[in-house]
Amino acid sequence: MTQAKSACQIRSTCPYCGVGCGVLLKPDDKGALDVRGDAEHPANFGRLCSKGSALGETVSLDGRLLAPQIQGQESDWDRALDLVATTFSDTLAKHGPDSVAFYVSGQLLTEDYYVANKLMKGFIGSANIDTNSRLCMASTVAGHKRAFGTDTVPGTYEDLDEADLIVLTGSNLAWCHPVLYQRILATRKKRPEQKLVVIDPRRTASCDLADLHLPLALGSDVALFNGLLAEIAKRGLVDAAFAQNVSGLEEAIATAEGEDLSVTGLSDDLLAEFYELWCATEKTVTIFSQGVNQSSSGTDKVNAITNCHLATGRIGRAGMGPFSVTGQPNAMGGREVGGLANMLACHLDIENADHRDAVRTFWDAPAMPDQIGLKAVDMFKAVGEGTIKALWILHTNPAVSMPDADRVREAIKGCDFVVVSDITGATDTARLADVLLPATAWGEKDGTVTNSDRLISRQRAALPAPGSCKPDWQQITEVARRMGFGAAFDYQSPAEIFREYAALSGIAGGFGKDFDISGLKDLSDSAYAALRPTRWPVSDGKQGGRFFADGAFFTPDGKGRMLPVTWKPPVSKVERRYPFRLNTGRIRDQWHTMTRTARSPRLSAHYAEPFLELHPEDAAERGIGPTALVEVTTPHGKAILRAMITDRITKGDVFAPMHWTGENAPAARIDALVAPVTDPISGQPESKGSVAQIKPFEAA
Ligand code: SF4
Repeated sequence: MTQAKSACQIRSTCPYCGVGCGVLLKPDDKGALDVRGDAEHPANFGRLCSKGSALGETVSLDGRLLAPQIQGQESDWDRALDLVATTFSDTLAKHGPDSVAFYVSGQLLTEDYYVANKLMKGFIGSANIDTNSRLCMASTVAGHKRAFGTDTVPGTYEDLDEADLIVLTGSNLAWCHPVLYQRILATRKKRPEQKLVVIDPRRTASCDLADLHLPLALGSDVALFNGLLAEIAKRGLVDAAFAQNVSGLEEAIATAEGEDLSVTGLSDDLLAEFYELWCATEKTVTIFSQGVNQSSSGTDKVNAITNCHLATGRIGRAGMGPFSVTGQPNAMGGREVGGLANMLACHLDIENADHRDAVRTFWDAPAMPDQIGLKAVDMFKAVGEGTIKALWILHTNPAVSMPDADRVREAIKGCDFVVVSDITGATDTARLADVLLPATAWGEKDGTVTNSDRLISRQRAALPAPGSCKPDWQQITEVARRMGFGAAFDYQSPAEIFREYAALSGIAGGFGKDFDISGLKDLSDSAYAALRPTRWPVSDGKQGGRFFADGAFFTPDGKGRMLPVTWKPPVSKVERRYPFRLNTGRIRDQWHTMTRTARSPRLSAHYAEPFLELHPEDAAERGIGPTALVEVTTPHGKAILRAMITDRITKGDVFAPMHWTGENAPAARIDALVAPVTDPISGQPESKGSVAQIKPFEAA
């Protein structure tokens, strides 16, 4: 028995959210998979949520893409890969490196991500590789870099056990990161004095056991946390010793003191209660997620939160700190390998000549971009305008999941050459592909992922690859070899890729960067196979742990940065034609566009169809009865949804889940309604701030 196996069970990691729960997999000889929580995994200690525990119901081969296709006709790998490589090479030769792009996904394993990024940035010579993680946590990356100098999550999950106050802001943890929420509830059973505050325009499931709920006006988080910073200063709670390590303190406080708190829509009493609790509780963790990130001022929101923690020195010590939770299983790994258009590998910067040269030398790369590439929304605009002529999409479904999705679908349709790697050919995006490449799925592939608290865990194969499916790293490296870059992509296994990546991270460590796992660069194949969850950094003298308690940051002057940020309303303005604010998000038992979770009848029983939450007074004013069909219109599209009338939502707001798509509910494609408006710093779309009109649906 190896460490990777426990009594014939294979240790792996759940493929859904960024909690990164460990699972024990036990396949049988008929292709079924028994899935249990791994009691030894430090992210979940055996717990699983509804989605994780239903994983075994989602591995059937029904609808799987089992062979490559060219223009809808079954093909073989050689012909398909030759066509991909030839077309990308020809496009490069004719139109230059920025005429091609990769759009990848937080579903990719770190090793897949690493080779995709290496091919695009080091060999094709463009930074046009971006990821669907742009839609979920790009604002956190930008906010971290502004505050800390690097994209560093300061704390760990253990902080949730040790905190006396947990603040959830823009995070329905109970549904979107359920095992972390269960962890908090377990702590509160042992320590009932631990307080929980939820800041959310909706009264979500996370509020059910909260001590305090602040139903702030959608998008007003900066004002709320500026009010807190001003209160911290007023009460003399700035940590003077820690402030020696922080720049921008006075300016940030002066700006915060000028904030108009009425835009939060919260009463003075509620604000005072929250501020009193936060100020009086040193061990405070502020958890944030999509409600903060998916905003035209998402980066400012992140910095409004980090400002409060930096001012009080509540960072990097047990039970305190700002804590972003990632949406996807490997959003964090993608950030680390540089799978975003504005990053180089290992948290190095594309626009820094020294960093570029170091990576170029390490890779022996012939071509490196010196500027950032196109971020997701701009990438698909460029596809629509014809400047991107060859596009490779891996494990994501932008034709329905990007903002203004109908326009994105048209753009992909009009693109000269589209390659899609996926486990099914039945997504809206896959149907638009010139070449479809069948990929191995979760349960069949091997590699690593990183979760929200920097824990690197293995995903392991428990089932054989069906048909002629190949792992993504193999698809990418075989195309790279055919494009003439063979020597740099001659990998035989994910372990080889991981070792190279770990060695490269040592260069980042040499530049004083946080992301350094060079302690893993000499892992043998068997040690990689048996790798247990390991929190980075992992380098000489460093292992896991928290960042910044010592006051040492990764900025050029070594100081943490407080930023003067001010509240800005969402870009789309509520007006007579569109009097509602449309909020979008997840439900408990579905994942993204449901390509996997819809396979489980148990998961579909939670909510069987798409819906629109609206306030009882708004429903009454428009003559919308319980369970009636509602037509929702925005400047970008239209959807028909079942009314869910509830006072959990604020009057004037409506909420719709984003999971149902073209395949399973063509009239309910929510992202077709969302404005393609982005945060100017992070490029993250404002998926929670579009404007809408609603009325009873009348069949034609
Ligand atoms: Fe999977 Fe997230 Fe649920 Fe854990 S909390 S089982 S990682 S979906």
